[in-house]
Parts: sequence; C-alpha cells; structure tokens
Amino acid sequence: MCHQTPTDKVTVNSMNTDEGVRTLPVPGRRCPACLERGETIWVIPGKCCPQCGTPVN
Ligand SMILES: [Zn+2]
Repeated sequence: MCHQTPTDKVTVNSMNTDEGVRTLPVPGRRCPACLERGETIWVIPGKCCPQCGTPVN
C-alpha cells in the first residue's frame, strides 16, 4: 500500500492562517520615510529599510 500522509495540505493550511496576509500580494510594508520621498521600498515587517534604515513594523 502506498499511503502517504498529506503533508502538503498541513503546510498550506498553517501558512494561510497567518493573520490574513491574503489581502497583501507583497509580503512586506512600504517604508514610510522613503514613501515621503516618492520611493516605494518594500520592507519586511520587523526589519529596517535597506535604503534609509528606518525600522518598519
Ligand atoms: Zn526607507
């Protein structure tokens, strides 16, 4: 018998339950400081902007 555990389903499920990120196509936030200068820099929440170093939550 070839009976495998549906590991894929479990993985996808736990990722989707990640606090409603489904509405965001890009996994990150735009740096507010760079946004004011007219630049759109995507920063991973909790990290610092690679351009100006502003921490983004
Ligand atoms: Zn920035």
